[in-house]
Amino acid sequence: MTAGIMVEPLLAALEGGARLTDADALTLLRSHDLLAIGQAAHAMRLRKKPEPVVTYIVDRNINYTNICVSGCLFCAFWRAPGDHEGFTLTFEEIDRKVEETKALGGVQILMQGGLHPSFTIEWYEELVAHIKTKHGVHIHAFSPPEIVHIARISGLTAAEVIRRLRAAGLDSIPGGGAEILSERTRGRLSPRKCGADEWIGVMREAHRQGMRTTATMMFGHIETLEERVESLRRLRDLQDETGGFTAFIPWPFQPDNTALDSTPETGGFDYLRTLAAARLYLDNFDNLQASWVTQGPKVAQMALFFGANDFGSTMIEENVVRAAGVTFRLAEADIRRVIESAGFTPRRRNMYYESLE
Ligand code: SF4
Repeated sequence: MTAGIMVEPLLAALEGGARLTDADALTLLRSHDLLAIGQAAHAMRLRKKPEPVVTYIVDRNINYTNICVSGCLFCAFWRAPGDHEGFTLTFEEIDRKVEETKALGGVQILMQGGLHPSFTIEWYEELVAHIKTKHGVHIHAFSPPEIVHIARISGLTAAEVIRRLRAAGLDSIPGGGAEILSERTRGRLSPRKCGADEWIGVMREAHRQGMRTTATMMFGHIETLEERVESLRRLRDLQDETGGFTAFIPWPFQPDNTALDSTPETGGFDYLRTLAAARLYLDNFDNLQASWVTQGPKVAQMALFFGANDFGSTMIEENVVRAAGVTFRLAEADIRRVIESAGFTPRRRNMYYESLE
């Protein structure tokens, strides 16, 4: 079924080595021919990653504070300064979380938090140096909005913040806070957070300084399909320029407990179609993650046939999606079983997608 939109010609051109245009990507996102798009995406996944292996990482998402001056409309996690539900973890609490992660075989922590009104670069340097010295784990932390915020509050440039955090022990930067990389949507959803150009600027600078990062897209809120494509285009352009992204991670907006809670939830159909279209359009990305945290194991398993080759993190701890009322939990053994029952070999990896088995 194509609902009047023919995707076969452009999928055939793709097989011949053509690169998708923005108009092509839009056609895919409007099409109802899910199986044809998925099949093409899976074929591209197999061209890039021929082994029938699905990777995942053992780590946890440590949210060091929920105190935030941004107040993004889509976020259920943040609390305003002074709110009695606001928290900032002590270094001792963070130590315990890192120890638990290491005890489960984790070699990395993901650390992200709200845009705190008073922490300057020195607090972040101390935190990173403390974790690195005490635990020696890979530190994947501070998405571009946090980097831009630290720079503003400390009177530094983003480049200086990255350089100083790197010197303190920061290893890589997560692609969070991208949502949709369009100034219109960001102006409406998160006007106090970094813009699309700034997000890209932080990642360009991180890549320039030799760091690898990931890229994300949270879709299905107020964006148009054209803006979804614009977001993908900005990522593809930067990847052409630097090659610094290790992976692309798309997931649908989870509306519960947010200021946009009347937004209809994105279904599995649009999730899989967007994932597959992204695999085809982002032809310079090696790895695409399935989002079991938002989609649950059943749809995430299907995602392995729609372009995804990675199951993301075991998420020993996750707070942001949980705050939006979504609570899928999977232990490492469950993740391996879900991957195996889809016909793939599970393999533990690090942030650089190197096998740890
Ligand atoms: S998404 Fe991040 S920056 Fe926006 S309100 Fe939530 S914690 Fe703050």
